[in-house]
Amino acid sequence: MDGTSGARAGNTTKAADTGKAADTGKATGTASDKVVPDAVFLGGRVWVGPGVTTTALAVVDGKVAALGGPALALAGAAREVVDLEGGLVAPGFGDGHCHPVFGGLETQGPAVTGRASVGEVVAAVRRYALEHPDDRWILGASYAPALAPGGAFDARWLDEAVPDRPVLLRAADYHTAWVNSAALQAAGIDATTPDPPLGRIDRRPDGSPLGTLREWGACDLVLRAAPQRPAEVLRLALAEACRRQNLVGVTWMQDAWVDAQGHQPYLELLERGALTVRSNLGLRADPGRWRDQVAEFAQMRAEVEAAGQPEMLTARTVKFFADGVIESATGAMLEPYAGGADRGMAVWEPSELAAAVARFDAAGFQAHIHAIGDAAVRHALDAIEAAIRSNPPWDRRPVIAHVQVVDPADLRRFAELGVVANFESYWSQCDPMQDLLTAPRLGPVRAARQYPAATLARSGAVISHGSDWPVSTNDPLEALRVAVTRLNDQGHPAGGWTPGERLTLEEALTAATWGAAYQGWADSFRGTLDLGKVADLVIYAEDLFALDPQDLRGLTPRATWLGGRPVP
Ligand SMILES: [Zn+2]
Repeated sequence: MDGTSGARAGNTTKAADTGKAADTGKATGTASDKVVPDAVFLGGRVWVGPGVTTTALAVVDGKVAALGGPALALAGAAREVVDLEGGLVAPGFGDGHCHPVFGGLETQGPAVTGRASVGEVVAAVRRYALEHPDDRWILGASYAPALAPGGAFDARWLDEAVPDRPVLLRAADYHTAWVNSAALQAAGIDATTPDPPLGRIDRRPDGSPLGTLREWGACDLVLRAAPQRPAEVLRLALAEACRRQNLVGVTWMQDAWVDAQGHQPYLELLERGALTVRSNLGLRADPGRWRDQVAEFAQMRAEVEAAGQPEMLTARTVKFFADGVIESATGAMLEPYAGGADRGMAVWEPSELAAAVARFDAAGFQAHIHAIGDAAVRHALDAIEAAIRSNPPWDRRPVIAHVQVVDPADLRRFAELGVVANFESYWSQCDPMQDLLTAPRLGPVRAARQYPAATLARSGAVISHGSDWPVSTNDPLEALRVAVTRLNDQGHPAGGWTPGERLTLEEALTAATWGAAYQGWADSFRGTLDLGKVADLVIYAEDLFALDPQDLRGLTPRATWLGGRPVP
């Protein structure tokens, strides 16, 4: 990253030396005295990118055309002058791992997100059921798995609210579902149903299903019985997701779970000019049928490419789930969970994962691998290494997402293999889930190894920011706050949880801007505010660098710009 920073600094200096606006490529704007900027930002801090700050920025034709003194000199001619009033402008945020359609859909079902008790969740479902008597099924998300001991939720609790039609709620981890008895019945799940491949059914002492389904092998048993959502509903959910991402400053996102036809809502919004977040689609590889998916994914990618707006929409990535989550004891561990013999659930045989990663890599897809436990991280690194060995060299930029527990022997491999470590920094805090479910399952040694962001960033690996929204908040400032402090929402514990892995604000901001753009192969045209980059901007009334990091909580952008225009 040093070389990149140098180039960046060089660009900035060059503009200042010559006193001219950069060549924007505009046919009619060759002489600097004819340039009419769309906007000039001044009166605050312009965070250009890692290590480079200046005082003003000029936008011409949707691109950064001048910085510092030369930008100030253009203010008189600008159509709009934005006085930052001591605030800050930075590159728009990239969200390197999220689930926008799920996020949009959450706003349409029962309002269970953020409820503080099982009783509150059930009350929200009851209210929704009364208001929607014609819904044949009630689908909702997402409840906090820590609300019940061991994350085990009983179908009977939901039966009290809705006895007559199926209810399925996803947990906030999206790896678990809580269903009522009507849903179990609709799916034909009873005491005689065995655990499916890649799934677990929680049971009562007599073997009958409790109502909690873990991992999609089990969740799918019920979801398959539910009606498909209409295209219109999915499109509206994505539009709502774009709006919510814009409101928190996000201008690019990696959709990390796209199933067959999941590219359609994106294409529809793109065609209407309503896709206000640049997006890359991660097509989900199914361990049961990935060989058939090679051609299907190439077809989806071709359909996206045919839309002809690669700066707005790409489908260049294949998503793999290497394991589950530690809260459900489905994260794959090298050693057993504390107090037992269970090592979690590797979703793929390691050799099969390596074969699939190599095959999709050969087809020009980026691997984006969900890996939580230290065994899953190792399998992911092994698979990437095997693909590098067996396939011709190319600019592959493989991604491992979440990176929760890493065996010390594997830390150096991220930099060595060129693997982008995608962190959901908001998770690196001691919240109730960490305290009640995660840390006890890991035991103290592994619990202290979680989310090694600073170690990896300083080892030379590229780190990028993701939210995993709606699993957790999509607000990048919340992620930055936790990345920098490792404090929970209440400001505990003093000094931060696993404080050795705290990032500087500069490092965290870099991960959320340049790092995410690098992950999406887009650092040549966005991710910093260097001359010639697109004017994807986030503007704050506050100078984030001047605040106590804990005070980043609750700040919202003054505005978000995409390609030189405010959104949403
Ligand atoms: Zn995810």
